[in-house]
Amino acid sequence: MQIDIISCVPALLESPFSHSILQRAQHKGIVQVHVHDLRDYAINKHGQVDDYAFGGGAGMVLMIEPIARCIEDLKSERDYDEIIYMSPDGELLNQKIANRFSLLKNIIILCGHYKGVDERVREHLITREISIGDYVLSGGELAAAVLADSIIRLVPGVLSNETSALSDSFQDDLVAPPVYTRPAEFNDWQVPDVLLSGNQRLIDEWREEQSVVRTQQRRPDLLDEDSSTS
Ligand code: SAH
Repeated sequence: MQIDIISCVPALLESPFSHSILQRAQHKGIVQVHVHDLRDYAINKHGQVDDYAFGGGAGMVLMIEPIARCIEDLKSERDYDEIIYMSPDGELLNQKIANRFSLLKNIIILCGHYKGVDERVREHLITREISIGDYVLSGGELAAAVLADSIIRLVPGVLSNETSALSDSFQDDLVAPPVYTRPAEFNDWQVPDVLLSGNQRLIDEWREEQSVVRTQQRRPDLLDEDSSTS
């Protein structure tokens, strides 16, 4: 899988892909992440990629020309399954969307900044709009990193034990059971006996039960059938 991220502040995307699971995914050759500086496609030698909004008002808007040229450049190299714009009014990201995107081959993620992008970009150049939540960030970079992370960890081979993604929250419309590690006792706080029993069948049953109880307590909406169709 190749993920191309277009940003006018590419430095914001350096760290998320340079450590831990996301870095290993790239080193293993399973996923390639390329960050493209929108300023390389600026309309003039001053690196201009934004301008004042028509109609006035505070805040700059990312121009269509640099974005169109960058996307054109990328599309001349390969076909893309989706060209995604990160936007607070987009489709709300969830595990089902991440699962579906993890099956794709090539995607572009466009990060907005300031007031956003010229609306014609959204109308004509992109195929999907994704939000990471009902709040507004300064730019799409952190949102793009969240989206890319949620996708990459699901690509087969990225996590050393594939079942570890399957047992995470939301995969079966359930949240994950609690986990513990050594020591078995700390300040008189005990790890549940069953986890120390060595009986894998009982442990699996306990985990499943805990998942259901936790989902009922914390996210009963997940157990509501209508919410599992999106
Ligand atoms: N004026 C816009 C917000 C612009 S915020 C509005 O009110 O809707 C600047 C950029 O940050 C956006 O273009 C988008 O790319 C990104 N962004 C902000 N909040 C986001 C969110 N919740 N999810 C995804 N991207 C977001």
